[in-house]
Amino acid sequence: LKKTRMPHLLSFFVLAILLISQITLGQDKVTSITKQGLREHLQFLASDELEGRRTTEHGFDVASQYLASKFEQYGLKSFNTTAANYFETFDVMKGEGDFENTYFEIISDNQKAQFKANHGVLFFPRSTDSFDITAPIVFVGYGITAPEYNYDDYSGVDASGKVVLMFNHEPQEKDSTSIFNGSKPTRYFNPMVKADIARQHGAIGMLVVRDPNNGHPPIEVTMQRYTRYLTKPIIQLPKDEKPLPTFYLSDSTATELLKSEGISLSGYQAQLDKKLKGSPIELKGKKVTMHIAMKNVQKLPTRNIVGYVEGSDPNLKDEFIIIGAHYDHLGKDQAGIYHGADDDASGTSGVLELARAFAQTSEKPKRSIIFILFAGEEEGALGSLYYTDHPLIPLDKVNVMFQLDMIGRNGGVSYTELNDSLLNQKRANTLMLYCAGDPKTLQETFDKENKKIGLDLVYNNGPEMSGGSDHASFEAKKVPVTFFFTGFHRDYHETTDTVDKINFDKMEKIVRLAYLVAYDLANRPEKLKFQVVPTK
Ligand SMILES: [Zn+2]
Ligand SMILES: [Zn+2]
Repeated sequence: LKKTRMPHLLSFFVLAILLISQITLGQDKVTSITKQGLREHLQFLASDELEGRRTTEHGFDVASQYLASKFEQYGLKSFNTTAANYFETFDVMKGEGDFENTYFEIISDNQKAQFKANHGVLFFPRSTDSFDITAPIVFVGYGITAPEYNYDDYSGVDASGKVVLMFNHEPQEKDSTSIFNGSKPTRYFNPMVKADIARQHGAIGMLVVRDPNNGHPPIEVTMQRYTRYLTKPIIQLPKDEKPLPTFYLSDSTATELLKSEGISLSGYQAQLDKKLKGSPIELKGKKVTMHIAMKNVQKLPTRNIVGYVEGSDPNLKDEFIIIGAHYDHLGKDQAGIYHGADDDASGTSGVLELARAFAQTSEKPKRSIIFILFAGEEEGALGSLYYTDHPLIPLDKVNVMFQLDMIGRNGGVSYTELNDSLLNQKRANTLMLYCAGDPKTLQETFDKENKKIGLDLVYNNGPEMSGGSDHASFEAKKVPVTFFFTGFHRDYHETTDTVDKINFDKMEKIVRLAYLVAYDLANRPEKLKFQVVPTK
């Protein structure tokens, strides 16, 4: 395709025309992507009527219908044999914690001490599974097995079939010289990692108590703060494997459990931090019961919305570029409606505008372009996990997957930056991009096409960008990905993530850039290849 060029006029006045004139023939519809078009979709998706679009709930269903009707209006093709059906339907499990009937028991000799959920023991529902287990117990320090630090809290103990008790966090947390990455957290800080370790040691239940010497708030304070999250229903994919049942114990409940052993929480923690050597303690003659009850558990259908624009090249049209966003959000609760204007009505509106522009483009790109709006991202990327396990075309035919999640604000990646309004002003033209699989080709293409757009691009391949949205499901299956992100802000996952705070001028540029780069990559002679970049 040839480029048409303007005469050599260097006045500022013609700059805009110049930029447009560099657009190749088939990219002609880029200027049809406008902030007005984006605003129209976004305003509807983030409106009160859609009630925060929580997966399986009413407002989410209304959003599904809206998106599918737009795909139909734009003339997108469907992978379903039934005409104009853009739903990829799948089942999820939904259920709520039954706090009345969930309890923890300490059993010694003929005595029983019972603690109801959220009275001395915090229950944070993580799956729709119920449990009733009674088992011996072992106190495994911080619950860490870390060969790279030559540290093992499980050394010399058999935890199989037992419940493990552990401190939260990691040894020498506040020590800047600690082998556990100084005062910065390592992966062992994460309770999910500790649950994996416990499971590998054969444990069947997990109890976590505060590391008392590090000055963290008591569990009762945490309980207060998270009540609204605790009582929300869980939504997950149907799974064969149950997670490890987990309770958080208050200091007094843990002390009750340890009272006959002559060990104190702070004494044991001090010993571990000092010697940096695991020394697990079996609590002899004691058992615990973890009884977890769930209620209103049901299987419900939900759906991704999928459509595509067919490529123009007889061979390359069987290769694809996927452009995605998630259309679900957090629903509503006592705090109000979680509008999710930025998260992710912004990306969803962007995908709609891209779908329309590509469907109307005079000369279609060589490869085909698939548009997917995912369900269940906020519940743990359920829609993209389902899709990548049940792809509608083979994943090795996918050139690259773009995820647009939160593209409407002037935020940052670190939480300490969120209140810095000066910094946020400076970011009024900034887009962060995470490019993986073939980062070199991707970044070169973004730089090239961005000359026509003029955003400040920041390439960020840090851990804060690699997860956290649907692109991670594709990268895990070795599909090259790019994640478009304008950063976290104070309204992230709050009821205040509203339309009036969206920077539509910037969004227009971002969506136009996505169009140009997708077009460019769709016409590239060679397919992008997934390369594993060595991690440091
Ligand atoms: Zn999101
Ligand atoms: Zn979110």
